[in-house]
Amino acid sequence: MAQPQLVVAGSINTDIIVHSARLPAAGETVLGGDWLMAGGGKGANQAVAAARAGANVHFVGRTGTDLFGRESLQRLKVEGIDTAHVVEDSQKKSGLAIIMVGPDGDNIISVAQGANAAVSPEDVDAAAGIIDAADVLIAQMEIPAETVYHAIRTVHEHGTKVLLNPAPAPGEPIPPEILGMIDYLVPNQVEALRLAGTGDFDSSVNALLERGVKHVIVTLGANGAAVFDSSGRHDVPAFRVNAVDAVGAGDAFCGVLACGVAEGLDLLDAVRMANAAAALSVTRPGAQPSMPARDEILALLNAQ
Ligand code: ADP
Repeated sequence: MAQPQLVVAGSINTDIIVHSARLPAAGETVLGGDWLMAGGGKGANQAVAAARAGANVHFVGRTGTDLFGRESLQRLKVEGIDTAHVVEDSQKKSGLAIIMVGPDGDNIISVAQGANAAVSPEDVDAAAGIIDAADVLIAQMEIPAETVYHAIRTVHEHGTKVLLNPAPAPGEPIPPEILGMIDYLVPNQVEALRLAGTGDFDSSVNALLERGVKHVIVTLGANGAAVFDSSGRHDVPAFRVNAVDAVGAGDAFCGVLACGVAEGLDLLDAVRMANAAAALSVTRPGAQPSMPARDEILALLNAQ
């Protein structure tokens, strides 16, 4: 099997995570327990998930030149991710996320975008050679939408598959031209409803398929994921685990799903592999530190 080649165009953050017995209400202070500082940003998390699952990953993005940015880049390099196309932007601060985690692993998050907001279509063009050669492009919405859409247009011309995780849900609807270029749109339930605007869940997803998305894969938390395409709806159950921290679950899912389809798995098998990786990630704290290695994913797949 040739090693899957992936490009991630996305965000790089540092996460500061505080656990507490319950999440605070607005205006309230609660005493927290353990805290952790770790690599985050949906782009970087998905890149790490894919790399640990066995893919060769190239990254297009930006950090600041501060300590957080330098450490973030180092974390990606340690995973074997190619950071040659990550711009170190001296005008910007590095991305930072403040995350509070409650007793059941539920969380609230505020993200300072910093340099992520400056990732530009020109940054994508500078990486054109590697982007064209990739099996799958992975993108999310934590960098400017125009950059994401430019990357999608660029790879579409070269037959590279596109996985878009529309998180956070974009404020403006995704242009119809772009929807028609998406092979795998991977929202969670909240994002799926927001994307289509109105209606119930199934009609929201059907509206996206009618607008040209090839497969919509909705993640359903502890219920796994549902694949919608021209052949209907196919549910893929979650793996039963002891959840301690849901931060990064969606990212584990997306990174490993991209790795799975790039290595030639059937979509439903790739979703099963992504469910296994995401389940393992919720058993551990943090985003990047919680991403499982390929051996662990395969062991869980074979055990259940
Ligand atoms: P997000 O974190 O983006 O909101 P979800 O909550 O839908 O996304 O979770 C993404 C994936 O993580 C799910 O599709 C599932 O595979 C896995 N997952 C999440 N929570 C659990 C859980 N409690 N047990 C097992 N798997 C889970």
